[in-house]
Amino acid sequence: MQLVGIVGWRGMVGSVLMDRMKEEGDFSHFEPVFFSTSNAGGAAPAMARNESTLKDAYDIDALRRCDIILTAQGGDYTTEIFPKLRAAGWNGHWIDAASTLRMNSDAVIVLDPVNMPVIKNALAAGGRNWVGGNCTVSCMLLGVGALYKAGLVEWMSTMTYQAASGGGAQHMRELLTQYGTLNAEVRSLLDDPKSAILEIDRKVIAKQRGLSVEETAHFGVPLGGSLIPWIDKDLGNGASREEWKGMAETNKILGIGEGFSAPAIPVDGFCVRIGAMRCHSQALTFKLRKDVPVADIEALIAQDNPWAKVVPNTREATLAGLTPVAVTGTLNIPVGRIRKLAMGPEYVGAFTIGDQLLWGAAEPLRRMLRILLEH
Ligand code: NAP
Repeated sequence: MQLVGIVGWRGMVGSVLMDRMKEEGDFSHFEPVFFSTSNAGGAAPAMARNESTLKDAYDIDALRRCDIILTAQGGDYTTEIFPKLRAAGWNGHWIDAASTLRMNSDAVIVLDPVNMPVIKNALAAGGRNWVGGNCTVSCMLLGVGALYKAGLVEWMSTMTYQAASGGGAQHMRELLTQYGTLNAEVRSLLDDPKSAILEIDRKVIAKQRGLSVEETAHFGVPLGGSLIPWIDKDLGNGASREEWKGMAETNKILGIGEGFSAPAIPVDGFCVRIGAMRCHSQALTFKLRKDVPVADIEALIAQDNPWAKVVPNTREATLAGLTPVAVTGTLNIPVGRIRKLAMGPEYVGAFTIGDQLLWGAAEPLRRMLRILLEH
């Protein structure tokens, strides 16, 4: 049995990953070795068999024993350990949730329902580095990848509504704490049906503006009852790094653009943080290469993979199935609001949602591990 080192298993992404691996019976296919950056020598989780103590995640010799290493530990860990491990001659497969290695020419961004041919080509060429994509990009491509595969997309604009979880566990806590603080500020007025709504509104905005540095430590400004139209670093050219990833990663996942033979497809838009917990939503505008009937577009999406679900473009179906609350905790990627836009018959709008901890983070890694074990 292959020895698989697992690093970062108790973090937010790691915990979702462990749950999915248990659900799918993955642990019966390999011998797991659990690592820790903080508790070497401690007890490994229940899924361990022979390797029942936690190994030191900084111990290169312990890591080198593994045939495959799967890490959801974070970018700093990858930056520190990955080069040392390769320099020590380790030739195993490295599967990573962090973005550090994503754009390296010898790394594949894994999303097998969308890019299995890219993964297979890289495997045949001796590829060893497999990196999960940006959560927003992965969820979007699971939903509408069919249109790219069919060669229909001339360009795409995406306007995102991204959840607090994209920042990590502390960001989710901060959001909920802010909601609680705002509610507490006006609770007595809310309890009184005769109270004036503008009085409530005035107290809420005063409280939001008065939140302390500690109360906004993670997002920098209030998110509860507001939004933040900037995610990740400022690239200095007017775009955020999250917005840059939209085009760079979409093309790399599809095996087009820089380093591949076909030209890149333009993807651009604005990435916005909103007060949702763990589902990223996106409004998409496509310029298609030709006029395709909506029914054909829906059929392509519905047939592409088992998780993309077409939501009929009605108010009732949208409210029932196309919200973060409906999607959280499921692997479904609903795609709704599909309709022709006023700009012309080649312009199509759609709205899609995905749980960014499942298809946006854990699931592509879990599936890549299975692909390697079955290779
Ligand atoms: P995280 O929750 O902060 O976990 C990372 C590590 O922190 C854990 O493996 C654990 O390592 C340590 N840790 C310290 N205190 C902890 C505590 N109280 N509970 C649990 N773990 C604790 O990080 P994450 O959000 O899962 O992200 C991991 C990586 O995935 C990052 O590279 C991130 O960019 C990437 N990613 C994240 C998302 C997302 O939505 N958050 C999406 C896609 C990719 P030890 O056990 O070694 O101490």
